[in-house]
Amino acid sequence: MRLWLQYHELLESTNLTAASAAAAGAPAGTVIVAERQSGGRGRLHRAWVSPRGGLWFSIILRPQIDPALAPQLTLLAGVAVAQAVRRLYHTDRVCIKWPNDLLLDGKKICGILAELQLDAAGGIDYAVLGIGLNVAQRPEDFPPGLRATAASLNAALGGQWSCMDVLRAVLAEFSALYEAWLQDSGQLLPQWKRLNCTLGRQVVVRDDDQEIFRGTAVDLDSQGALLVRGSDGMQRSFDFGEISIR
Ligand code: ADP
Repeated sequence: MRLWLQYHELLESTNLTAASAAAAGAPAGTVIVAERQSGGRGRLHRAWVSPRGGLWFSIILRPQIDPALAPQLTLLAGVAVAQAVRRLYHTDRVCIKWPNDLLLDGKKICGILAELQLDAAGGIDYAVLGIGLNVAQRPEDFPPGLRATAASLNAALGGQWSCMDVLRAVLAEFSALYEAWLQDSGQLLPQWKRLNCTLGRQVVVRDDDQEIFRGTAVDLDSQGALLVRGSDGMQRSFDFGEISIR
């Protein structure tokens, strides 16, 4: 995949800029990078803290695939970032927490937010894949409320990489995985399973901060939904649109 990088010092949100560029016809492979975001967002409109020192970017994609496969883009991005970081930092301490976060020793280092736009015929017009990665922030750069749960790569792993180094590594990994996935999407789930730290764990599923289910995360289905087995042995699946696991 050819990539076109657009670099901005400050954006409200790289996903917003990418979505309007995509709606105006920007090609697949356009990458919008911002040094800072003033209104970065996670899922459910939660704020994503995006000061200088982190890597904040969004990729425009136009995959000609069944829209039912689109949720896998979140999983694909997780695999790409996890593999790139593991290689660059020579570590296996980074893992994927279903559906869209990367953890390092249990702390969040990366969030992923995919947004999909369908065309009038129900096919995919574009997808925007937003990736926020804590690269070089110092612990004191995080607001006090996040210090216990967030970490940055350089601080936690003793690295010296710049955001651009990490961006290059992630994009190389992502392009290769994305091309392979377009040919055959069957490889992705086994790769994701090797890198995840959710399956086999006790999880509490919350919707809007209300606990709705707890049990053991046992598997992902082919759509990327999480299968959780409750204490009664019943299994339920959770779609990652609206659910957080805590
Ligand atoms: P989750 O997947 O954990 O339900 P989101 O993907 O919506 O949450 O991400 C938003 C949450 O991530 C925020 O509510 C906040 O707790 C946390 N957060 C915000 N900015 C950062 C950051 N730069 N690094 C790590 N965690 C962050």
